[in-house]
Amino acid sequence: MLPTEEVPFAAVGRSWRARRARAEDVLLDVARCGRPADAVLAASAAHLAREQQIGGYEAEAEANAMLDASRNRLGVLLGMPGAQVEFLDSGTNAMAALLRAWPWRGGMRVGIPASEFASTRMALDRIARREAIELVTLPEDLWGRIRLDDAAALMREPMGLDLLVLSHVPSQRGIVQPIEALGEIAAATRTAIVLDVCQSLGHVPVPDVGAGAAVGTARKWLHGPRGVGFVALAPRLGDHLDAWPTLQTHRFTAMGYERAEETPLLETAEAAVASRVGLAAAVAEHDAIGHESILDHLRQVGRLTRLCLADVEPWRLREPVEEPTALITLDPPSQRELGQALTALRRVGIRAGHVPCGRSRDHHTAVLRIAPEPSADLGWIKMVVRVLESASRAG
Ligand SMILES: *Cc1c(COP(=O)(O)O)cnc(C)c1O
Repeated sequence: MLPTEEVPFAAVGRSWRARRARAEDVLLDVARCGRPADAVLAASAAHLAREQQIGGYEAEAEANAMLDASRNRLGVLLGMPGAQVEFLDSGTNAMAALLRAWPWRGGMRVGIPASEFASTRMALDRIARREAIELVTLPEDLWGRIRLDDAAALMREPMGLDLLVLSHVPSQRGIVQPIEALGEIAAATRTAIVLDVCQSLGHVPVPDVGAGAAVGTARKWLHGPRGVGFVALAPRLGDHLDAWPTLQTHRFTAMGYERAEETPLLETAEAAVASRVGLAAAVAEHDAIGHESILDHLRQVGRLTRLCLADVEPWRLREPVEEPTALITLDPPSQRELGQALTALRRVGIRAGHVPCGRSRDHHTAVLRIAPEPSADLGWIKMVVRVLESASRAG
């Protein structure tokens, strides 16, 4: 039985859609890349025009107040008010820059789930070899959620853990990790946390878990431009990081070089500033519609989508129906049928996503991913159901 109720808070979806004059088709793959609002395009274009008029550095100086306001706002949205937010070009590189700069000591132990984003895991594997640190797997339940009692035991045992690295919401499974409870245990055991919010910021509430740092990206649930990622550093974490030296961050001294004061640590100095301005505009658009309203709306859209998809045999939902996310993944009956379904959806104007195997160390088969835009309505979702049903019948 498909639900007949309309998506609640439909005004959120309408407002979101009205801000995108050129958007074609139906996009159900925000987890890969969202679609920026007209205001985001306009802000980026205006910045480029300013670069032409007065020069890039001067234009950047003019944009700094707007960029700083969005740094502050991102810190608040991340549950890290007062954090130092720095811009890089992607979530991947923001995480890599942070981990490269982390104050490693030989023998440190880092807890990480087997489901962790592959680029993060590979960066840590490389660091583990060079710095003689140890990676410890955080056990997960059948849905891929970290088991709190096991994690607590690992953090409390005499060796303990020095750091947890984890994604709040993974990209190949739409579950929410229990980061609030993990944060409490981490605080009690003096375990630092590095949180990946690439799939959660702008999508689900990000609680204050006392994270040392958080890493995100602009183009997914914030619907910002491509090519911008960010890292938020808790106050004073910067004093402990050993960031890669450049002439923007360090100065020569008689002894060699040292950190320059009051400069960013990890931020790339040379950048497409117009894209950062675009992110600032995307954050402003998000707030104009209303942060809480968007999150509430997406949770309802996700719930309705899962209700609709729960009984589409032989596709298998990979999350509980009530999981509070709008990132829905399904195991296909076969890889061939996954390909057929994606093509059939494309034919009716729906761009769904798929996550190829290898997204994490424990991810061995491609899955279908439905990550709806806020404007998704029940009609689209039922269309997905019909296409999956007939793809399976045809196969
Ligand atoms: C997309 C994603 C990243 C990487 O972000 P990019 O901006 O694509 O480099 C990291 N972690 C998770 C969970 C992601 O979904």
